[in-house]
Amino acid sequence: MFDIIKDWREQRILDNSKFTHEDWARAAECIMILDRLTEDELSRLFDLATLFLDDKSIVGAQGFEITDAVRQSIALQACLPILNLSLEWYSGWSSIIIYQGSYKSESTTVDEFGIVHEGRQHRSGEAWQRGPVILSWEDAKHSSERDGHNVVIHEFVHKLDMMNGRANGFPPMQPDMDPARWTEIMSRDFEDFQNHRKSGLDRYGATNPAEFFAVLSEVFFETPQKLVDAYPDIYDIMVKFFKQSPLQPKA
Ligand SMILES: [Zn+2]
Repeated sequence: MFDIIKDWREQRILDNSKFTHEDWARAAECIMILDRLTEDELSRLFDLATLFLDDKSIVGAQGFEITDAVRQSIALQACLPILNLSLEWYSGWSSIIIYQGSYKSESTTVDEFGIVHEGRQHRSGEAWQRGPVILSWEDAKHSSERDGHNVVIHEFVHKLDMMNGRANGFPPMQPDMDPARWTEIMSRDFEDFQNHRKSGLDRYGATNPAEFFAVLSEVFFETPQKLVDAYPDIYDIMVKFFKQSPLQPKA
């Protein structure tokens, strides 16, 4: 019964969307990592992005104007990790705040509140537990290139990680996953990464297990072969977690 009401409500949001399939398709063409998706997957991503925009408010900071292009780009990139999961993975918070460029944070006691942040003085993004995602548009826009970096995916993966408490690199597992295996593989490879540089993997991932998970998720979606080359077991457990195989050619 509740599923029927939910479906009806979602269908109404989709029917009333100001963006057509063609609008979404044009926006998707600007984001290189989406070119591996089939038509069916793209359609599902567009629907998910539409529901995402209905659920979240996107506001500009310091006068930054939120255009349709900004909204669509953020929504498409944010929804890619949950394409085969559900929007419920982003429940419990409502705002995305966007600055024109990298910004200075005034917060000085971040860790006390479970806030995860990027950068030192100038930040490109952060994700607050039960609070907003904050992004720099210049960095988020740059994520459209396939270079192994994607600040939108990075911050939203922190949100997935926070679904069971503070970000620690251990998100809720899928029902068919073994939590002990996730911990074993992640711990072993995090320790290895702290001691060894790996081609295509940002050293920021060596900061702590939460950043390791977020940085490697960027690589998983952007340049998956680099992750397979460096840490094949992590690629395998991420396939199970995200229910996607970015290396597989289109069906
Ligand atoms: Zn981070």
